[in-house]
Order: sequence, then structure tokens, then C-alpha cells
Amino acid sequence: MVNVTYQNQNIKQESLKYTGKAKTVYTTNDPDILWVHYLDQATALNGKVKETITGKGALNSEISHLLFDYLTRKGIENHYLKKISATDELVTALDIIPIEVVSRNYASGHFVSKYAVTPMTKLEPLVQEFYFKSDALDDPFINDSQILALNLATSEELAQLRRVSQDVNQLLHALFEQIGIGLVDFKLEFGRTATGDLRLADELSPDNMRLIDTLSGKSLDKDIFRQHSGDVTVGYRDVLNRLQQVI
Ligand code: 5GP
Repeated sequence: MVNVTYQNQNIKQESLKYTGKAKTVYTTNDPDILWVHYLDQATALNGKVKETITGKGALNSEISHLLFDYLTRKGIENHYLKKISATDELVTALDIIPIEVVSRNYASGHFVSKYAVTPMTKLEPLVQEFYFKSDALDDPFINDSQILALNLATSEELAQLRRVSQDVNQLLHALFEQIGIGLVDFKLEFGRTATGDLRLADELSPDNMRLIDTLSGKSLDKDIFRQHSGDVTVGYRDVLNRLQQVI
């Protein structure tokens, strides 16, 4: 499939723009639209560990579709345009800001290893951290003054990244709570439109958020892969099935 219709326009997939760890991105005949394909691939340790997992691409594509749709209805401006197949979507072409915004409701992952706190300690207020998006440097932590000095974003944009991440946290936390899932932490990425407006970008899936079953405490996200504790697709399918009951 290399051709689809979007808003009465014929969109053709053109050249490969970017190969990510779990997605490939293509340009299209419309310079404002990109074509994203989700891969059946899982990576850990910034790509050093890689594995093919059949069905993962379709699960992430559908979960991301449902979550972006939900956030759009709640007024969060984002890049998502249209789901075009089980594993593909169209998004607005953005100038991606090379900052990963991590939000943490509970201590887990690097927060536990860095600060030696008890796993799942409730974090209040919400912890927000910035990381410089660079595989070569292993996404190092970066603070506001470093971001400003490196011209990665303006102080107004930083304030917006924090505000929108907080809004997304409130919305997703409440949504997952309804289906017995705890939102532990998550990573967001943002980009600028041609007119300089900020939009939420990337994907929203268990690849970039930690989700636990509230009753059992079991991981339903990429920690299953990181910790070799079972079949990733079982956790992801569980998340999808529960989401489909409420959105
Ligand atoms: P941590 O800093 O504890 O490793 O990760 C915090 C949260 O951000 C987790 O939900 C994790 O999945 C997400 N995250 C952090 N860095 C990355 C990254 O480079 N890629 C992806 N997909 N998620 C990330």
C-alpha cells in the first residue's frame, strides 16, 4: 500500500525519511504530511538490544490511534491525522524539538536507579524531566539553561512543554484509572508546525509509557521486554482491549 486518500487528496508514500527503533517515516507528495509505519520490532538500551515481535507494530499503531484520538477530543493539539492501515498512519510534518519530556507519577526505572528510592513511591508533585534526544549520547539529562544555551527551545516553549505534559498526564491518568491501569511514567515528544505552533508528536503506546495492572502490579508495557518477564504482546493486547471498552 503506497497510496491513500486523505481529505479528498491522493496521498502517495515517497522516500524514506527516517528509520527509528520501532517505526519508519516516509515523506509523501504533500510536504506537510508524513507517512508513519510501525515495525514489529522492540529495542532496549537505546537500540543495543533488538528483537522482532510479530504483531507489536499493529498493537502500538492501534493504541496510539486511540490515545491520540482521545487527546484530540480533549483539546490537546497534536500531529495525528489519520489511521490508514493496521500499521500505518498519516501525521503532520513537524520540526521535531530534540527534547524528550518524561513525566513521572511513581518512582520507577531510572528514577529508582538514580535516587535509590523505593520503587513505586508516589511522586508529588508530578516529576518532569528533560532529556536531549540523541542516540549517540544515550539521551542525556538536560536542564532549562542548557536547553536555552543550545537553542533547542525557547523559555516559552519549555513552559508549554511542561504545561501540555501535565495536561496529558491528567487526561491519561484518569483514562487508565477507569480501566484498572496505573500510569507510572511516560515520555512525550513535540514539534513545531511551519507557523511555529507547538504540537504533541511521536507515538503514545506502551513503548513509551509504564503501565501496571492496578490489582496485580504486573507490567503491561515495554518493561516486559526490558526485563524478559514474558510476552510483550500479551501486555499490549490487554491494554488495547481495556482501552477499546472505554474509547
Ligand atoms: P526511564 O527514564 O525511567 O528509563 O523512563 C521513563 C519513561 O520514559 C518510561 O515510560 C520510558 O518508557 C520512557 N522513555 C524514556 N526514554 C525513552 C526513549 O528513549 N524511548 C522511549 N520509547 N521511551 C522512553
